[in-house]
Amino acid sequence: MPKIHLVDTTPLIALNRLEQHLGGKHTILLKRDDIGGIGGGGNKLRKLEYSVAEALAQGCDTLITFGALQSNHARLTAAVAAHCGLDCVLILSKRVDRQDAFYTESGNVLLNDLLGADIHVLEDDQDPLARADEFKDALVRQGRKPYVIPFGGSDALGALGYADCAQEIAQQAEGRGIRVDHIVHASGSGGTQAGLIAGCERSLTGARVHGISVLAPAPALQETVHTIANGARERLGLPLGEKATDVIVEDGFIDGGYGVVNEQTLDAVRLLAETEGILLDPVYTGKAFAGLLHLLRTEEIPQGDTVVFLHTGGMPGIFAYTSAFKAA
Ligand SMILES: *Cc1c(COP(=O)(O)O)cnc(C)c1O
Repeated sequence: MPKIHLVDTTPLIALNRLEQHLGGKHTILLKRDDIGGIGGGGNKLRKLEYSVAEALAQGCDTLITFGALQSNHARLTAAVAAHCGLDCVLILSKRVDRQDAFYTESGNVLLNDLLGADIHVLEDDQDPLARADEFKDALVRQGRKPYVIPFGGSDALGALGYADCAQEIAQQAEGRGIRVDHIVHASGSGGTQAGLIAGCERSLTGARVHGISVLAPAPALQETVHTIANGARERLGLPLGEKATDVIVEDGFIDGGYGVVNEQTLDAVRLLAETEGILLDPVYTGKAFAGLLHLLRTEEIPQGDTVVFLHTGGMPGIFAYTSAFKAA
């Protein structure tokens, strides 16, 4: 499968102080996919290694993608476009109900502009997919070759980036004589979880992948992940998964909706910052970390097990939610 190189091997670090803080019952590691690569880093880069390789192979000159106003995926697509000498059209929606200037102007909004993307903010009643089609048609009429990347870069192709990540974790764990029992991470559009699941079946058998939903109720996200994972399995020559209900999703940490934050999430962000000096974000990784704390405290992840928390990035979101942190 053609792939461009955007991220080097990311560190797998021990969180000893957090382990102690939680009573020393588990081994907790952090896979730092928040750092490295370009555009500030984050999980979308591994997916873009595959989707942008396909765009380049097809001779495309413009990337089109979508997201919320503060989408990390949009920001990283803009960065990869700049890196590869492509144009980038971002179609952003105001789906999150925040109007303060931190949200509308700072964080990823500021970075998208610095990265030179052509940004279009939709009115509430506009459909992003229909709008993308219009942009695509208009570009084609001008003799351009646009390539549309799906929401969050999440399709079977993009998911292969996270099958690679599972393999990387397997190699790092093996090198240190560690058995990985669980991987826990923020799950939104589903490509990360789908890729990890397929990747674990290939190279890290025995590890359970827990997606902490930031957006959809468990049955819907399980269905999405299941479909994408089967697409990835097909590409990797693995046997297909049978049931969507085999996908492990925890949907108790969505807090009121995508991009909506409450105290539990903000507290989780503060806890890791204060115990380990590691920065999470309020939209994805803060919720996932709140979910991890729950799984550890309730021993749904049993005592003695080793868990890898995948840090998927999103740090610019801290600045976008300045007023939420101030209010808490
Ligand atoms: C997009 C994103 C996720 C979720 O990844 P999906 O593949 O969309 O499920 C998690 N964390 C961060 C920081 C993200 O930007």
